Amino acid sequence: MNIALIAHDKKKPELLSFVKRHLEVLKTHHLYATGTTGSIIRDKTGLKISLKKSGPLGGDQEIGSMIANGKLDLVIFFRDPLTAQPHEPDVSALLRLSDVYQIPIATHVNSAELFMKALEKKIKE
Ligand code: PGA
Repeated sequence: MNIALIAHDKKKPELLSFVKRHLEVLKTHHLYATGTTGSIIRDKTGLKISLKKSGPLGGDQEIGSMIANGKLDLVIFFRDPLTAQPHEPDVSALLRLSDVYQIPIATHVNSAELFMKALEKKIKE
């Protein structure tokens, strides 16, 4: 599967520990990420990740474009609902496209954990 990883700044540590918990599953998939999120995860885990631009500089739109072009199967986007984001329109556009194309998207850790359970099950089948 092609999986996108994104986290707003205050959520990056949470996404990093999520990824570390699920390394074995995630390393069997093609990973994409917005710039800062992706470089942190890559540096701390050694995972192979294709990096897009940083979210506020167009990265969220690039991920949205991947959705629109049928190139993503799952998005894990840890949003920070308590901090205003300068690129909120891009975030909304990404969420909208995931609805338009019905691409599963987890916006916080508890949803993402459920997706990982589904992916683990697939590996065992
Ligand atoms: P970043 O972008 O990974 O480049 O920080 C994430 C975002 O805020 O959309």
